[in-house]
Amino acid sequence: MNRNRAVVIGGGLAGLSAAARLAKKGLDVTLLEKAPKLGGRAITIPLKGFAFNFGAHAIYSRDSSYIRKLEKELDLQIGWVDFDPAKARYDLGDELTEMPATLEGLFKTKVLSGSGKALFAIEVIKTICRLERGEEGVTIGEWLERSGKHEDVKDLMLTLASSNFFTKEPERIPSTVFFSYYQRLFQTSKAVSYIAGGWQSLVSELERVILESGSGIITKAKIERVVFDGNRVTGVETSDGVIEGDQFVFAIPPKELAKIFAGTPLEQPIAPYLLFRPNTILVYDIGLKKRIETPYTYIYDKKSRVFLTDISAYTDCTPPGGQLIQAVAYLRSEEAGNREYAAELKAAIEHLFDKHLPGWRDELAAQRYTERAAAQEIKMEDDQRLLPVKFHVTPNAYFAGDWVEGVGMLSELSFSSAYEAGSRILESIKRKQKEWMSERDAHIG
Ligand SMILES: Cc1cc2nc3c(=O)[nH]c(=O)nc-3n(C[C@H](O)[C@H](O)[C@H](O)COP(=O)(O)OP(=O)(O)OC[C@H]3O[C@@H](n4cnc5c(N)ncnc54)[C@H](O)[C@@H]3O)c2cc1C
Repeated sequence: MNRNRAVVIGGGLAGLSAAARLAKKGLDVTLLEKAPKLGGRAITIPLKGFAFNFGAHAIYSRDSSYIRKLEKELDLQIGWVDFDPAKARYDLGDELTEMPATLEGLFKTKVLSGSGKALFAIEVIKTICRLERGEEGVTIGEWLERSGKHEDVKDLMLTLASSNFFTKEPERIPSTVFFSYYQRLFQTSKAVSYIAGGWQSLVSELERVILESGSGIITKAKIERVVFDGNRVTGVETSDGVIEGDQFVFAIPPKELAKIFAGTPLEQPIAPYLLFRPNTILVYDIGLKKRIETPYTYIYDKKSRVFLTDISAYTDCTPPGGQLIQAVAYLRSEEAGNREYAAELKAAIEHLFDKHLPGWRDELAAQRYTERAAAQEIKMEDDQRLLPVKFHVTPNAYFAGDWVEGVGMLSELSFSSAYEAGSRILESIKRKQKEWMSERDAHIG
């Protein structure tokens, strides 16, 4: 029997994960990426000896994460560097305090009063035991208000959600999403881990698996149209021609999906997701010639909802002796694209650099500033929802990416939706093989 052909569109973390898993399972996979380089938003940009990544490649609860499953199944070589809570602080304006990420942190932190600490610990247990699950159609802000929780507990729950969901308005997170997220996160012993070598090392590993399994990758291949026969996808079209396949994984963002599915049976099902807003953030990275020694590798400014990460403390991304700091500011949807506001934020971040990295201006060697970066293509707030992995109407088109339903937030959604898309394809192939064998047996009998 011929090998099943799978075509994966999009060479970001989702497309790479789906392609690597299917290739390893023996499918004949073709991965198509429009850019000259793989990685999508996890691309690494070299500049003056610094490796600038979007994001601190922080993986949350890696012990129960999908990237861990992929690591085991695909035998990926990933160097994990665990976040050190002892080196993380909340900046309260006039003082720094411990993050309540461990028992010791909870005991020492000043973000909670004495009674607040006990009440928060009870909330953690109730969440783990699923005694709190939230309510459909109710945001976490409204849910906390209604449930009359202690002010300290409310404040800390929203502060945690702000940094895990990369949002300035954590109160708008749907309460059900909030509790299913923390049900998992509160149980982990690895709250945050970084990938040694940054996203690039993961991208290279996934690429290696695809190629070693005998499958192919084509870059500079922009898909312009999807070809259907009835409700089935038969191919995707680039300017060089049509690439045919049996199964398709579309790992490109909603606005790109809308273009390539225009006039097809999936145009209508995809349309509602185009109205949803992305989670946009402002990113300001600085590469310093010489390290400025500070006791902390992560500082979260509670008032402005800006955080600084010393990426170079966790991964090798600088010339010898250098330092790379990333500042991320969360934005409200309506703030994205407001240039005046962005300039104010940039100045506020520089003020934080002055406060926590005295002398940084003298050591500045390279910088990268982005006013609007999509941390997640569909933001989890209010009634916004994520795309399904598959629509009923089309039997052989699957979807993956951080805009698709899955587990966790940010890249974890890319990994988990890619995993699910792959599982469904493998199951459908198994089903077909069974049908084929029973038909053959009936014929022989
Ligand atoms: C500043 C920043 C910080 C972040 N920090 C973290 C973090 O610490 N932890 C974390 O888990 N996540 C983080 N993220 C999120 C993470 O980077 C993304 O969730 C992840 O990279 C998304 O991968 P993806 O494959 O789902 O989508 P994408 O990376 O968007 O991939 C889509 C791919 O499809 C390609 N494409 C689009 N159209 C076409 C077409 N027509 N034909 C062919 N190819 C096409 C694109 O070029 C792209 O390569 C951060 C993001 C940002 C921006």
